[in-house]
Amino acid sequence: KGESTLSIVVIGASGDLARRKIFPALFALFNEDRLPENFTIFGYARSIMTDEELRNMISKTLACRVDKRENCNEKMDAFLKRCFYQSGQYSSEEHFVGLNNKLKGEEAGRTSNRLFYLAVPPNMFLDAARCAKRRASSENGWTRVIIEKPFGRDTESSRELTRGLRQYLCEDQIFRINHHMGEELVENLLVLRFSNLVFEPLWSRNYIRNVQLIFSEDSGTEGQGRYFDNYGIIRDIMQNHLLQILALFAMDTPVSLDAEDIRNEKVKVLRSMIPVQLEDVVVGQYKGDCNGNTSYPAYTDDMMVSKNSLTPTFAAATLFINNARWDGVPFLMIAGKALHSKRAEIRVQFRHVPGNLYNRKFGTNLDQAGNELVIRIQPDEAIYLKVNNKVPGLGMRLDSSYLNLLYKARYAREIPDAYERLLIDAIEGERRLFIRSDELDAAWSVFTPLLKALEENKVAPELYSYGSGGPIGVHYLAARHNVRLGDFGYDE
Ligand code: NAP
Repeated sequence: KGESTLSIVVIGASGDLARRKIFPALFALFNEDRLPENFTIFGYARSIMTDEELRNMISKTLACRVDKRENCNEKMDAFLKRCFYQSGQYSSEEHFVGLNNKLKGEEAGRTSNRLFYLAVPPNMFLDAARCAKRRASSENGWTRVIIEKPFGRDTESSRELTRGLRQYLCEDQIFRINHHMGEELVENLLVLRFSNLVFEPLWSRNYIRNVQLIFSEDSGTEGQGRYFDNYGIIRDIMQNHLLQILALFAMDTPVSLDAEDIRNEKVKVLRSMIPVQLEDVVVGQYKGDCNGNTSYPAYTDDMMVSKNSLTPTFAAATLFINNARWDGVPFLMIAGKALHSKRAEIRVQFRHVPGNLYNRKFGTNLDQAGNELVIRIQPDEAIYLKVNNKVPGLGMRLDSSYLNLLYKARYAREIPDAYERLLIDAIEGERRLFIRSDELDAAWSVFTPLLKALEENKVAPELYSYGSGGPIGVHYLAARHNVRLGDFGYDE
């Protein structure tokens, strides 16, 4: 606040991420009075645009939250006035000198902090980082750089990217975004674990039978074929999003809530993981389907994808953590495109009640179901616990029911977009939700041998219909590890 200024530079401002996510999130923060008093936003890209054209482009994507509608138009105008545009090449230091001059003009001699968001294809990261560092760093405040996945394709390329970035930036300046880490229920995972007495004592192999981490999308890769075919679902979702959630779920209690303490624990648990084995994996690819008058494309119908592509659009993998807390507990990750539902959730299945009195007396098979804790990250954020309960009445009949915390029923407020949280954290220097380089390296070590084995053995994915529950193989994999698959059936 006061005499310092914040300049946020969106490199690749003409792109999809900038338009759909970054500018709207910045406006939401402005509308919540979360940005510093003196701030400016600069869009930078190769496209030729005036400030007015940039403002026009941004204005189409801005919206006020229901509880923040007062003076919405004035707020939008005030925000847009703080937005400027500079056109240039990502690898041209000379063009970044031009950007620097403009930044200085707006900063008007005050202490300036600069946040660069590299919203460009990954092959531009190093050039842009070099130019930003050499020609447009702050001279008297901090300079930080946000990058978004993909962070390489495997251990080697990820290390190369980290080495490249570290030529120009120190670790403290690099903010690697995994936007799922900014989701409300992912943040809440630590609160649930460490500020309640009832969960943490059960959080181990002694009481937990298995954990499922599920990320299913009901749309295919339409329009992203070129990007996706080079990465596949394992790199796109499992190695980063689901593994990050798994690390938060399974890590030991950190010394404090400080970013370094949390990230130290995440690295420890990632390094205790056994690299995923080929026999513990099922891969699938969606094929076209026809439902009444609607037809759905196959993955390989995309013009940018080869007809013989073996890229998985679905994968299920069982992972194990080789430490005292989790030895032998299967963590089943499932991620897929073009499935029948869109959801992200963590399902924790507890062990059977030993010597269950009700099984003995009534022969009920309820205990087969056991207790299950479900943390639904999206859609409709919720936490619910499946418990066995007596059906009211004179007889003794048990029923599997739910203790349910449905967010929209409990909290009458809109949940901020993940990008808002991550942007404000980057501005405030809070690194808890960003991925440190040793963490990234440990995460790649879990999946790189599998990715190599899939490619070397040219493993053909099992085909599944667009809009179905995925390949049949996932049921065999789950059965092999005694995992009862989530039923996807419980909604409210
Ligand atoms: P994009 O739209 O493809 O590219 C952003 C901008 O970069 C474009 O407007 C273009 O601007 C420039 N650009 C595109 N291709 C280029 C090339 N071959 N060489 C040089 N410049 C090029 O990308 P995006 O979807 O916004 O994503 C940006 C970054 O975020 C990528 O690293 C992506 O993997 C990551 N990401 C995006 C999303 C998303 O929701 N879109 C989600 C997760 C991660 P000019 O032509 O004007 O220079």
